[in-house]
Amino acid sequence: MKIGILGGGQLGRMFIQNALKYDDEIYILDPSADCPSAGISIFTKGDFNNYDDVLAFGAGKDVVSIEIEHVNAEALAELERRGVKVIPSAQSIATIQQKILQKEFYKKHEIPSPAFQTVQGKEDFPSERNFPFVQKLNTGGYDGKGVQVIKNEVDMIEFWDAPSVLEDLVDIDKELSVIVAINESGETETFPITEMVADPELNLLDFNICPSDIDQDTRDQISAIVNKFSKAINSPGLFAIELFLDTQGKVWVNETAPRLHNSGHQSQEGNANSQFEQMYRVLKNLPLADTEIHAYSGMLNLVGEAGHSGPVEYQGLTQVMQEPETYIHLYGKTETRPGRKMGHINILANSREELLERLQAVKKMVKVVSR
Ligand code: ADP
Repeated sequence: MKIGILGGGQLGRMFIQNALKYDDEIYILDPSADCPSAGISIFTKGDFNNYDDVLAFGAGKDVVSIEIEHVNAEALAELERRGVKVIPSAQSIATIQQKILQKEFYKKHEIPSPAFQTVQGKEDFPSERNFPFVQKLNTGGYDGKGVQVIKNEVDMIEFWDAPSVLEDLVDIDKELSVIVAINESGETETFPITEMVADPELNLLDFNICPSDIDQDTRDQISAIVNKFSKAINSPGLFAIELFLDTQGKVWVNETAPRLHNSGHQSQEGNANSQFEQMYRVLKNLPLADTEIHAYSGMLNLVGEAGHSGPVEYQGLTQVMQEPETYIHLYGKTETRPGRKMGHINILANSREELLERLQAVKKMVKVVSR
């Protein structure tokens, strides 16, 4: 099959790495000729936000998909009208890519998500709004950018004058994620729930671990959410649902990504099949893969060190290679910048405690700096 993907970042790269074990042609559209996927795909330089670029790219493909949601959804809808298969559907991407539409979708389908109001800008800020709240830009948010907590009236000078969602602040106990795959035949398969763990020393959310340490009631709430979501979205695809478990034991949907997700990377070695294999199965409407876990698995993002910009150098990887059941994945990015995701390391262990210890230890071994 001719599989076209909008976006050529690390998600596309890892999708291709896995898919190369089969016999398909994988095409990538990305504005950057040295993006992580360019060298291992049939590459087209172009803008996935541009109507004409997306339309031209999609012509003649058997299926078109995405590895980033900030794409031209109108062009995808036109491709659908012209008979090109688009997964996930143009409609589902259009709903998810705008925070306001996404929140209204949860409300309409009675999927629990924090209470919210919407504003077009500063001038229609609701007088009855309680503090604190979370402001989320309607479009353009990514990796925590476009999200801010407004604690009180004083903070209002920081308020972004743009269309936004104003959301109640959740008292978070754990941040969880569940990835669900839906194929065209209507089969669904859910990955075991993963958990973001804060680094106790740095207070940074930087490990993703699986399985999550949650009780049966929490699992039941999540499975109800997955069932409602899978019906409501009405589209094949692979979706990552980011969740909050609050301190009262209630689960809320934070947001959904209509694509492969950072919270599923440990599935590369931790599960019988990875999210990348599952995505491949979804795009070809094949039987969905078994997602069972073999042991505890965790992932550490390798991000560019503060104060370092330029040609990348990875320090400590040879030491990491001497660790058992530890797997390095680099994204082929030539330049590092502070906070840029450059790679990740997956670790397998026999217990949660052992896993957390080993993640902390490996984290201390590596550094992403500029030469
Ligand atoms: P992004 O899409 O940029 O990753 P998110 O919507 O996931 O942004 O928000 C980033 C982080 O902000 C979340 O992981 C969470 O820690 C915090 N956050 C977002 N919404 C809320 C909320 N309603 N209550 C408390 N914290 C929140």
